[in-house]
Amino acid sequence: MAVRAPADTSLSGWYGILPPPKAPEVLRGRQKADWLIVGAGFAGLAAARRLTQLVPNERIVVVDAQRVAWSAAGRNTGFMIDLPHELGGENYGGNQDHDRKRIRMNRAAIEFSAAAADEFGLQSFFLRAGKFHGAATDHGLAVLREFENHLTGLGEPFERLDGPQLKKITGTDFFIGGTFTPGTVMAQPAGFIRGLAEGLSNRVRLFENSPVTSVQTGKLHTVRTVGGEITAPRLILTVNGHLESFGFFRKRLLHVFTYASMTRPLSKSEQATLGGEPNWGLIPADPMGSTIRRIGDRIVVRNTFTYNPDMSTNEKQINRIGAAHDRSFRARFPMLGKMEMEFRWGGHLCLSLNSAPAFGEVEERVFVAGCCNGLGTVQGTLFGMLSADLAAGSNEPMVADALNEPAPVRLYPEPLMSIGAPLKLWAMQRRAGREL
Ligand SMILES: Cc1cc2nc3c(=O)[nH]c(=O)nc-3n(C[C@H](O)[C@H](O)[C@H](O)COP(=O)(O)OP(=O)(O)OC[C@H]3O[C@@H](n4cnc5c(N)ncnc54)[C@H](O)[C@@H]3O)c2cc1C
Repeated sequence: MAVRAPADTSLSGWYGILPPPKAPEVLRGRQKADWLIVGAGFAGLAAARRLTQLVPNERIVVVDAQRVAWSAAGRNTGFMIDLPHELGGENYGGNQDHDRKRIRMNRAAIEFSAAAADEFGLQSFFLRAGKFHGAATDHGLAVLREFENHLTGLGEPFERLDGPQLKKITGTDFFIGGTFTPGTVMAQPAGFIRGLAEGLSNRVRLFENSPVTSVQTGKLHTVRTVGGEITAPRLILTVNGHLESFGFFRKRLLHVFTYASMTRPLSKSEQATLGGEPNWGLIPADPMGSTIRRIGDRIVVRNTFTYNPDMSTNEKQINRIGAAHDRSFRARFPMLGKMEMEFRWGGHLCLSLNSAPAFGEVEERVFVAGCCNGLGTVQGTLFGMLSADLAAGSNEPMVADALNEPAPVRLYPEPLMSIGAPLKLWAMQRRAGREL
C-alpha cells in the first residue's frame, strides 16, 4: 500500500515563538519495535505515553513525516475543551446522553494530559483557564441561550456575562454578551506537544521527518519510510485525516482546513490602550465565527473553514484568508489600528458527516485513532490513549465506550461533495455574520 505524505505549509505562530527545535532523528536502515505508532500529534503521543504505562519494558517507536508540532497538533488554537463542541451544529451541543458520556471521556483525556504536563514540567503550556463564548449579534445571543440551556440540562456550571464584563476581560466592546465555562484548558499547542515528545524521549524512540511511504501488514507489519524500514507486530496509526492515505475509511473522512494569524508582540503602550486581561481565549457564539486568543503581548485570530479534499493548502489560500483575519481583528480591536500579523498559517481538520471518530482495530493488530472532528487536542488524546489500551488488552472501561461509538458514515457521492461541501461551509459562515 503506497502512502501519501502530509505537507503542512507555513510556520504556525505557536511553533514560531518557541526556540528552534533540536536536530531531528530521521529513520535510516532497519529497525525492530514491539509497538510502532505512526503520527506524533495529540493522538500518537497519547498512545505512546499510555503504552509506557501499560508495557513499560517493551520497545515503543513513533514515526512522523514532519517535525513534532509542525502538523495540526502545533497549529490549533489550543482550546482543550471538556464540554460538547459540535462544530456542525448551531450551538455546539448534541444529544444529551451522548454529551454526558463524552464530557466524562473528555475530562479523562484532559487529566491524562495534565498528568503529563506535571510530570514533564509543561504547566506554562497548559493553563486551566476556562473559555469564554462571545456573542456579537442578537442571533449569537440566542445561540448562547440555547447553549446555556443545554448546559443546565447536563448539570454543567457556567457564568453569564454582559458586554461590559466581557470588555473588562478582552478590552473590546465588540461583544454584547457571553458565557464562561470553567473546564477548558488553554494550551500552547506546539509547546505542549514538543514538550510531551521530549518528556517521553527516554522511554520512546521518535523518528521525525520520516514520511511513511508504504505499509505491509502481516504477522510482522513492515512500515517503510524514504530512508528506512521498521517491523513490528503491532501498529497504531494516529495520522488523523491521513488514515485515508493508508487505505482506511476511504470516502468517509471530510478534509476541512481552518486558518489563523498571530500578531507581532504588542508594545506596552498598545497593551495599555487595549486594556483587558493578558490571557484569555474566546470562541464565537456561532461555531462558524472567529476564535480570538490573547497570550500576553500577542493576539491570535482563527476563522474560515475550507473544504480541501486533497489534504493540502497553500500560501495563496492562507494569505487570502489572512485578509479576513485582518478584517475581524480590526472590527474587534479598532483601538490598535492596522496591526501587522507576524504569522499566518492553515491546518487540517478531519471531520465526519456524523461527527464520529475513526477508532478500533481495522486489521489484525492494526489499530487506528483519528478523525477528531475539530476537537483533536482532547479527542485525539482520548482515542490515542484508548487505542493503546485496546491494543494492549487492558481492562480500561472507556475502551468499550469508544468501540460503541458509531463509525464515520460514507460521504455523499461526487460531484455532490465537491460542489455541496464548499457551498454548505459558505452558507454556515454567512450565518455567523458579524461574528466571523
Ligand atoms: C487553525 C486550527 C485551529 C484548531 N483549533 C483547535 C482547538 O482550539 N482545539 C482543538 O481541540 N482542536 C483544534 N484544532 C484541531 C486539532 O489541531 C486537530 O484535531 C488535532 O491536531 C488532531 O490531532 P491528531 O494527533 O489526531 O492529528 P495531527 O495533529 O494531525 O497529527 C497527525 C500526525 O500524523 C503525521 N502523519 C500523517 N501522515 C503520515 C505519514 N504518511 N507518515 C508519517 N507521519 C504521518 C503528521 O505529520 C502529523 O504529525 C484546530 C486545527 C487548526 C488547523
